[in-house]
Amino acid sequence: MSLRTISGAFKARTDAANSYARMRAAGMPSGGINSAYRSTASQAALFLARYRVQWTGRGAYNDARWYNGRRYVRVSPAGMVGVPGTSKHTTGIALDISTSSRAGAWMLKHGAQFGWRRTIASEPWHWEYSAKSDNDAVAPIQSAVRTTRDGIWGTGTDKATWAVRAASRFRGVNFPYGKRFTQARVGTNADNVWGANSRGAHDATIKALQRALARLGLYTDKIDGIWGKLSDAAFLQARKAYKR
Ligand SMILES: [Zn+2]
Repeated sequence: MSLRTISGAFKARTDAANSYARMRAAGMPSGGINSAYRSTASQAALFLARYRVQWTGRGAYNDARWYNGRRYVRVSPAGMVGVPGTSKHTTGIALDISTSSRAGAWMLKHGAQFGWRRTIASEPWHWEYSAKSDNDAVAPIQSAVRTTRDGIWGTGTDKATWAVRAASRFRGVNFPYGKRFTQARVGTNADNVWGANSRGAHDATIKALQRALARLGLYTDKIDGIWGKLSDAAFLQARKAYKR
């Protein structure tokens, strides 16, 4: 797993952290975060700090759970902790954002569009990220290749991006769905002749794709309209992460 700092000591899996950065850029207030990535060891330490072995009864907080073959009851008012090995915090995709913070209020309005949802009814502060529902990540890629901008990387988006990739010199200039289809994706006359106009439009489309991939933190090289090794790697990474 690759981790990236989101703020202060808080880290998240890179795609989740990139989504957080885009939310901040889109107006999400800073602060409010109480927890993010936790190592398995720190998740266990946190659990053991708040729960004690107790074989009967549900304790003062009506919270009993099994861990490693033993029954535990919560003894701390500081809140629930997922059983080590089951918490999404150890996978880097979970954020706990205070429900009374401005960031928390912003998340309720906009989080879903960026791929975040609340998954535990009793923990309204707990948010989990799913790249597959990150519409904000996919929409600019769709705009770049002139396909329906619905935020969902399905068959249409896949064909459109694949056609643009295949027409690059790096790939040997192919047209898997026909020249006209690729011409429509790069925004030039669909006359079935891949001439200077088509190549120019294709370069501009690659630039737009490079910008979209850079925004996702996947492409860090020059925005030059040339599909090289780094553009290709960034594109394939995006496809793997966002394609449904
Ligand atoms: Zn949580």
